Amino acid sequence: MNANLYSKFLFKSKDAKPLITLNDGSIFSYGEIHQRVAQYCNYFDNIGLQVGDRIVQQTEKCLDALCVYLASLRFGTIYIPLNPAFQHKELTYFINDAEPALFICSTEKEATVAQVIAEQGAPIILDTLTINGNGSIQKKVKDFSIDFGIRERRNDDIACILYTSGTTGEPKGAMLSHKNLFANGSNLKKCWGFTEDDTLLHMLPIFHCHGLFFACHCVLLSGANMIFLPKFDTNEAIKYLPNSTVLMGVPTYYTRLLANDCFTSDATQRMRLFISGSAPLLEKTFYEFENRTGQRILERYGMTETGINTSNALNGDRIPGSVGTPLPKSKLKIVDNNDNDIQDDSPGHILIKGDNVFCGYWKKEVKTQKSFTDDTYFRTGDIGKRTKNNYIFIVGRAKDMVITGGLNVYPKEIENLINKIDGVKESAIIGLPHADYGEAVTAIVVPKNNVPLQDSNILFPIQEVLANYKVPKKIIFISELPRNAMGKIQKNILRNNYATLFSISVN
Ligand code: AMP
Repeated sequence: MNANLYSKFLFKSKDAKPLITLNDGSIFSYGEIHQRVAQYCNYFDNIGLQVGDRIVQQTEKCLDALCVYLASLRFGTIYIPLNPAFQHKELTYFINDAEPALFICSTEKEATVAQVIAEQGAPIILDTLTINGNGSIQKKVKDFSIDFGIRERRNDDIACILYTSGTTGEPKGAMLSHKNLFANGSNLKKCWGFTEDDTLLHMLPIFHCHGLFFACHCVLLSGANMIFLPKFDTNEAIKYLPNSTVLMGVPTYYTRLLANDCFTSDATQRMRLFISGSAPLLEKTFYEFENRTGQRILERYGMTETGINTSNALNGDRIPGSVGTPLPKSKLKIVDNNDNDIQDDSPGHILIKGDNVFCGYWKKEVKTQKSFTDDTYFRTGDIGKRTKNNYIFIVGRAKDMVITGGLNVYPKEIENLINKIDGVKESAIIGLPHADYGEAVTAIVVPKNNVPLQDSNILFPIQEVLANYKVPKKIIFISELPRNAMGKIQKNILRNNYATLFSISVN
């Protein structure tokens, strides 16, 4: 049987059914997209692309950008999306590493990409693709046939390479096979109850697994449709929610909606599901959202290398602060530093196994080997704990754990307490170099509405409940935490900014 992920999408059976609505009101059916995707495949064939060649795309989000992804699946090439923010130095790295046969970029990036290609002397075809349809590839594909088959692919053939966020060290290309993507997509469709009656409000970027895989695959595997918008915007969300049934978002989408008084339960009447992931959802956001709309946000946990690993229940408990239970067919273990299972309610390293787990890092065999245990579980790098009824709580990234005076401090425990203090919007706990303790627990706190707070506002309530070594040695108030495109707090930037805070005194 053809394992090509594209062959599992419902293009044939849903032919006339709407698949995509754009913000100019235009609607494209499954059949129309299938034909446009065929034109891209025929173009790839015409320029001599071969199965397994890499196509890198660094463009703005638009319908044709999605068609390129779908065409790459159907044609059997390997698709590599890049964040439009990457500049010359980063592009040099990706072009060297991925060795693409075709690079598709926005017109704004054309000169930079052409320069990088020339500097590398690489035989790469360069095309442009734009939101308004004027890109070189968009003009060319119009002349190609709307018929193309679906190439045979095996389970382990690579469909995509996604570079991991790379907040530290050089980015690694996670290789995802057709089997990996189908395993996770079909699991999610079932767990989240997607049907052909759903309309997903799609506002996520599509250079990341959240918007490209989790969101699009649920729609395409269930015959649903999506309102496909260029990016998240609060007013646009409020405008389109009444016509939607599901929203997938990062926590900042929910905090921004709540900050807007026009966001009321009127907008969410037709909505059956709000999903949050890619970064921790604060408990107070969960409750505030429930108070405002009557709906409990469903939080899930996943990553580029594995897809989604755990989810709160569609029809059962949604526990604020927890990322839910492991998905069926995905095995999750929590272990100590020696890979031994640890008891419930104790924090440890999260390991994952299943068809959803990626095939390794592109051209990085040693790193790949180190990322798996002897019994082939993937080391997520996340620390979490499991309750007796199998709910998982993420405590933080292993590399964000603070070791002070030889004792482990899990940031989430302290952040949860600080976030509940009146006048606090949010917080981040980091460890900073300290001559005496090794690392000193430091709290970075964002006051609500920029109303100033005193150290004592933070320290008094937490000193009462925390062991002394966990109490922050210093508190820094700032107006905003640095975040990446997926809303993740960039603790590495905070650690760099305040690296010398304790270098003068050892008190
Ligand atoms: P990425 O590969 O960019 O999707 O990043 C994956 C990482 O995001 C995971 O390893 C977690 O550290 C974090 N993450 C994803 N979902 C959640 C969540 N619901 N709560 C806390 N952290 C999350």
